[in-house]
Parts: sequence; structure tokens; C-alpha cells
Amino acid sequence: MISVEQALNIILSEINVLGEERFAIPLSLGRVLAEDVRANRSNPPWDNSAMDGYAVIAKDTKGASKDNPAVLNVIEDLPAGYAAKNPLKNGGAIRIMTGAPMPDGADAVVMVEYTEKTGGKGSRAGTHRGTHPKDGSDGWGVRIFKEAKIGDNIRKQGEDFQTGDCLIKKGAVIRPIEIGIMAAIGKSFVSVYQRPRVAVLSTGDELVDIDEPLLKGKIVNTNGYILSALVKECGAEAIQIGIARDTKKDLKEKLGVAAKADCIISSGGVSVGDFDLVKDVLKEMGTEMRFWKVAMKPGKPLAFGIINSKPSFGLPGNPISSLVAFKQFVRPAILKMMGRREILGKTIPAILTKDIKKKPDRTHFVRGLLKQGAKGKAGTHRGWVGEYYAEPFEGQGSAVLSSFASSNCLIILPQEQTQFKKGDTIKAQLIDDSFLYQKF
Ligand code: AMP
Ligand code: MG
Repeated sequence: MISVEQALNIILSEINVLGEERFAIPLSLGRVLAEDVRANRSNPPWDNSAMDGYAVIAKDTKGASKDNPAVLNVIEDLPAGYAAKNPLKNGGAIRIMTGAPMPDGADAVVMVEYTEKTGGKGSRAGTHRGTHPKDGSDGWGVRIFKEAKIGDNIRKQGEDFQTGDCLIKKGAVIRPIEIGIMAAIGKSFVSVYQRPRVAVLSTGDELVDIDEPLLKGKIVNTNGYILSALVKECGAEAIQIGIARDTKKDLKEKLGVAAKADCIISSGGVSVGDFDLVKDVLKEMGTEMRFWKVAMKPGKPLAFGIINSKPSFGLPGNPISSLVAFKQFVRPAILKMMGRREILGKTIPAILTKDIKKKPDRTHFVRGLLKQGAKGKAGTHRGWVGEYYAEPFEGQGSAVLSSFASSNCLIILPQEQTQFKKGDTIKAQLIDDSFLYQKF
């Protein structure tokens, strides 16, 4: 039987990245970039004011204080969106708004809070809400109460990014900020990878759908719903094929439909029972089987093969087994198809809170709760710094849904090791981002 690591390597070696498609940037949210996004301009494109205030020549404010203000002649009023008409000369100031380009000659901005208007029409100390002449032609001025240093309150040209910088790397997921960056450089279309269409088929004579009567012996097709949701969580498209009965005929028919997708996932029917026909049917359909058992718990029976160059995952029937197997193998495969750079589940080191024993035959994925230690460093509860504790749960049955719902991690117990002591450091795999939002 192959190990978890071997299985993952085999799977990933068979997976190819899908093709590309182009979208207008507003439609690219959540997709994966298929190109490096480079700056074709710098940002900001020119030096501009970071504050509402007065553009000055710093030297002219030397020694200025509340009691000994520098008095400057205001030569222009400059709102955002316009360039100054005149260069600034010694003894002058230009009233400037946040974002307006720095006038030639000016080398600092004094915040309006440190100024007071003098003379002119409608002056109101400190507030500048009064009416005032556009160009200071009636000779209004400003008192400056604070010495300015060169560069004060100026956003420098290119301080955000420079022409030619790689702003977003191929393989990144496009979030609102990436859409904003593309907009900022005037990029209206972007190449992204295609989303895999993933077929989800459940197998078993005992399965019914949620709206069907639950006669004795029947169970609801939980896997169909969990697996489709997991596929969507990856950012791929889930195609629900429904339920195939435990007959070769029905399996062949439904798997035939599933095989039209980019990736096939079935659940159930892959162990050694008389009705576990999925492997045989897949083989009869031309699937090249790569392996069908992995040394892990839960999730040992797992048939992986290639049909028409597409990956096919025969996951175990028990819901938690198929969920855990999905997280370890199917998710990385789907993310690789989507062109993602980061494809493996996040793990963090944590301290075990209980002793655990196991046989040396399989890697265990134990449901548990990851908590920050009570003595964790202040302010680190959302970071990766500090100490984390992993508490394994009691209910580890592979059909027990409830304990999975209340866990936030899978404690990974390596295959060969048999004894794990309270206080040992283990790896905990995050089930999803919810860990980050929990209050401890
Ligand atoms: P199997 O590998 O087909 O023998 O299935 C193992 C166990 O998982 C059995 O108890 C099945 O009833 C259960 N099972 C199989 N498929 C599903 C499904 N789609 N939803 C919920 N339970 C399932
Ligand atoms: Mg079955």
C-alpha cells in the first residue's frame, strides 16, 4: 500500500494545468491569473500632496512656530485634478488639496491644521471654508506655524510602484485588490486559467436524495452535497451526476456521463465488498488505474486513475473518509488544474493536548480543535506566531459528521510513529479559514 506522500506525488505528476481564457477585469474575481501583471506606468504618476494644506518651499518656513509664524503670499489655489499654473518662488505658497500634483518649485506641504489665512476676502482662521479669490490676486496670505522639512506630506512619484514592476504573479488568485491594481494601470482585460468542470457521482443502492422517503436501510446521499461544495470551495465548477446504483450497467452509464468533465469524482463502491464495482467498471471503460489504496485513516480505499487523459478519483463511501481524501488529494489536483501556485493544505505546528497511540501502518488525520495558548504573546492571536494547542476529539468514526463540523483542524499523525505524548509538537492541517475568525 502506498503512503499519503507517494499518492500525492503520483496524482500531481498526472495533472496538467488547463487552458486560458480572457475576461474583462470585473469578471475575473476569484479566478487564477495566467499572466504576470506588470506596471506599464508608475504610481503615483507624479509627486502629489498627501494632505490638504499649502505647498511651500521648506526653506521659507525655517524656524516657524505658533509664536513666530512664517508669512507667505498665496499665489494660487490648487484642487485635485489640476496642475499648478505657476511655479512657486521664494516667499510664495500654493493652497493645495490632497492628490493635487506638486507645483514646480515646491518641496513640502504644510497641513492646513498648522496654518491660518491672513487678509483677502472671507478669511476664517484655520478653517479655510470662507470664500477666497482663486489666485490670491488681492494679496491674501497664510501664516505657517510649523517648520516644514523637504518632502513633508508629499507622495513621491512611483512610491507605490514603478514602470516595469511585476505587480501580481501568474498563479495568484484575483481578489478585489488585484482588480484595483489592474484598473490602476489601465488594464481592462486579463488572462486567467479555465475553471475545471468536476463531475461528482455517488454510488450505492442505499442512497436516496434529500427529498425522497427514508425507508428502512436507506441513507441520504450526503457525499454528493459535501463533495460538490468542496469542489466549489476550490473555485471549480461542480457537476452533480447524482446517484448510480451498484450495477455495472448503471455505473457505466453514469460514469460515462461523468467522464465528459475535466475531472471525475465518485464516492463509494471502491472497497472489497461484492458490490464494490467502481474500479472494475472504470477499468472496463479504459481507465488506467494508478493505485487503489492509500495508507491513511480515514480514507484507505481510494482508486486513482486516468481516463481519456483526465484524472478520476474513486473516493471511499463514508462521508468523512471521502471528505478527508478530497482535502489531501483532490483539492491539490483541482488547484493545480486551475493554475494555482499554492495547492497544498496549510499546516501549522501545534502542541498536542492528549496522549495518542496508533499502529505504525497508516497516516492518521484526527479531527480536533486548534486553540491559541492562554499564555500566547499579546496581539498574536491572528498571526502565525505564538503557541497553538491541538486537542483531538473523541468521535473519530468515518461516518460521524458532527465532530467534523465542530473541528477546525486535522491533526496529522505520521504513518510510522505509534506514540504521541501530550506536549509533543505535531502538524495540524487547517480545515479552512474559519480558524482565523474564531475567538478563543
Ligand atoms: P461503500 O464503500 O460503498 O461500501 O460505502 C461505505 C459506507 O459509506 C456505507 O455505509 C455507505 O452507506 C456510505 N456511503 C456511501 N456513499 C454514500 C453517500 N453518497 N452519502 C453518504 N454515505 C454514503
Ligand atoms: Mg457502496
